[in-house]
Amino acid sequence: MSYRTHIRSQITHLECSLSGETVDHKYPHRLNPENGKPYLARYDLGKASETLTKDSLADRESNMWRYREVMPVVDPANIVTLGEGHTPLHIAERLGKHLGMKSLLIKDEGVNPTGSFKARGLSAAVSKALELGQTKLTMPSAGNAGGALSAYSAAAGMEAHVYMPKDAPYANQVECIAHGADLNLVDGFITDAGRVSGKAAEERGFFDVSTLKEPYRVEGKKTMGYEIVEQLGFQIPDVVIYPTGGGTGIVGIWKALDELEELGWIGPERPRMVCVQAEGCAPLVDAYKKGVEFADPFLNPSTLAAGMRVPAAVGDFLVIRAVRQSGGTALTVTDDQMVDSVRDMSTYEGIFPAPEGGATLSALQILLDSHQVERDERVVLLNTGSGMKYLDVLGPALGL
Ligand SMILES: *Cc1c(COP(=O)(O)O)cnc(C)c1O
Repeated sequence: MSYRTHIRSQITHLECSLSGETVDHKYPHRLNPENGKPYLARYDLGKASETLTKDSLADRESNMWRYREVMPVVDPANIVTLGEGHTPLHIAERLGKHLGMKSLLIKDEGVNPTGSFKARGLSAAVSKALELGQTKLTMPSAGNAGGALSAYSAAAGMEAHVYMPKDAPYANQVECIAHGADLNLVDGFITDAGRVSGKAAEERGFFDVSTLKEPYRVEGKKTMGYEIVEQLGFQIPDVVIYPTGGGTGIVGIWKALDELEELGWIGPERPRMVCVQAEGCAPLVDAYKKGVEFADPFLNPSTLAAGMRVPAAVGDFLVIRAVRQSGGTALTVTDDQMVDSVRDMSTYEGIFPAPEGGATLSALQILLDSHQVERDERVVLLNTGSGMKYLDVLGPALGL
């Protein structure tokens, strides 16, 4: 891969997302030990804007590393890439017409390496881990993150240890094994898997790359925000609908928009950020509705959308702040509604989405019916993964 040498990461430090306390990015960090909250990467955006110009993008690589000034990896030799990002922003003409809408768009993350947008986060985290000299990685995963960690660790020649609930999608279990990862199935939820993974990290010296507990996965996911703005000709949509588990994607897109304003690509305007969760696992929606910033763990989480089966999220307050500040909203949809939407997106658009992607369409229908979104607004649905990774649940749900 060829990189021009004047293009370099302008990362300056990590900053605690709650207290603002700063630490050096040249050492491995996880949560701020003072308050247990995530660190976020900060950049010299003034300097970044000298080379990361709108015009400069035309001849850059077509993956998420095209925004290298605002990515955390300092030495390009450490970038572990399988071509993640730069996914299509489809104009959903037939589906839009069916809904009576003027401008419906689908960001199709299902075409990423490993079949989901988790590829973005893990490309960033594995690359930065390599840069920091880590070689043994571990994580709890509801499914797709474990597959992506396995793939990127394989590409980097690192060890991957994955802790997944027993009921994680079959495809995710298989891909871990295929990539030579150490797959451990845990009786319980992702929070239980997190405890086992954390213990393994402590006892066996692994580096735990749980999302937001590790500061760089969100840097990969934020590139969705950069791409949406770039693909819209440096405009923002009116509404972004995001299927939320731990919420790293929503936090990332929101962070990207702030950075883009500082880079001078957009003004102060923002899309309304919509957080959709499954009725059977909605800790962030509950907290939003209660008017609080920190979510209580959701008891007995249950949904066929494994990526949204996250009963407690360390970045809860960041998701809820983004939704509130943007004037957006948070709502739930049922598994049946998601399956209907998987069918609709597939038949109207030829995009076979993950149930999580289906959830965004179900949410849109609710918001249109209640006039929280108008039919002439420009709406982006995030299809975060491919339906191909959920054949074990989607087959029976679709009547096979
Ligand atoms: C992980 C995952 C999500 C949830 O993403 P967060 O950013 O952690 O909220 C949504 N959809 C799919 C397909 C996923 O794999």
